[in-house]
Amino acid sequence: MAFKERVFSGVQPTGNLHLGNYLGAIVKFVALQESYDCIYCVVDLHAITVWQDPAELPRNIREVTAAFIASGIDPRKHIIFNQSQVAEHAELAWIFNCVARIGWLNRMTQFKEKAGKDRENASVGLFAYPCLMAADILAYRATHVPVGDDQKQHLELARDIAQKFNNDFGASIGARGHGEAFFPLTEPLIQGPATRVMSLRDGTKKMSKSDASDQSRINLTDDDDAIAQKIRRAKTDPHPLPHDEAGLAERPEADNLVGIYAALAGKPKAEVLRELGGAQFVSFKAALIELLIARLGPIRGELKRLLQDPAAIDAVLADGSARAQEIAAETMRAVKDIVGFVRR
Ligand code: ATP
Ligand code: MG
Repeated sequence: MAFKERVFSGVQPTGNLHLGNYLGAIVKFVALQESYDCIYCVVDLHAITVWQDPAELPRNIREVTAAFIASGIDPRKHIIFNQSQVAEHAELAWIFNCVARIGWLNRMTQFKEKAGKDRENASVGLFAYPCLMAADILAYRATHVPVGDDQKQHLELARDIAQKFNNDFGASIGARGHGEAFFPLTEPLIQGPATRVMSLRDGTKKMSKSDASDQSRINLTDDDDAIAQKIRRAKTDPHPLPHDEAGLAERPEADNLVGIYAALAGKPKAEVLRELGGAQFVSFKAALIELLIARLGPIRGELKRLLQDPAAIDAVLADGSARAQEIAAETMRAVKDIVGFVRR
């Protein structure tokens, strides 16, 4: 069966939005608006899988919303909303908790990394996170999901959940006129030179909101001086840039900075190296700083302007939530019938 093409993705309001979120996700969100109906979600239910201070969470929700708009997402043509305003996410997640198997979730590397050594003390929500993520996507029966490389495993799980639901309830799905499959097997969109932006301090760790060192990431709110300083101090090796991509093997820090440059310049890494191969890091970093400031400066300005009017941001979220809920509620009614619940 052909599903209506639709894009869904989300960003957690966990503070410190960074260059990895921007290049790995938000830039893709912006580009996809041209060819798809898009739904972009501030996933606050995901955020509370680890402790969030209630005094800071509203600001973080508004900051992600403002970052979406400042980066160029149009909340009138598409949908921007926060997850907790559409109860169907949590409702469908429960059904998926009953479809997914504990063995599947036990394999998730994000849980292992975030729970760390004290796994017994992690929240149940952190463990069940991928079921909620599947519900986010499938409440809209979305066909395409742009994400960074770190979310690949969760998207595969979302496909497994959709497949198992379609199989387990196959007869009921058919009997209700939905054909062979009710949920699509979502396509991950993970492409380009910056699907995994690494920490500026350690080229083997992903750039992350939660890294204790602010020097490890470029925040979307960093001013020009902070951007320049962080790139100048970014870890590198003593060799000049190689002339081709093979020369980046075993050089994670160089690979990372070239990837960032390529993403900002809109060129493949190979082309960047053809142009800049042989350059020393001092001059390459200067060029990178220039590109970063040119791109992030205007976004930061717009982000700050938008944040001065929280009521306007809340209005965007309210409007987006109402439009999202119409779609999700229709899915949920069909799911209840398929599962066999009695409803009004
Ligand atoms: P947290 O540490 O709270 O999980 P995060 O930085 O991983 O924060 P998320 O809100 O979990 O951010 O992810 C939002 C989007 O950004 C996802 O699509 C994710 O794949 C992408 N993303 C996160 N970090 C990176 C990165 N370092 N490089 C590329 N994409 C990234
Ligand atoms: Mg994350």
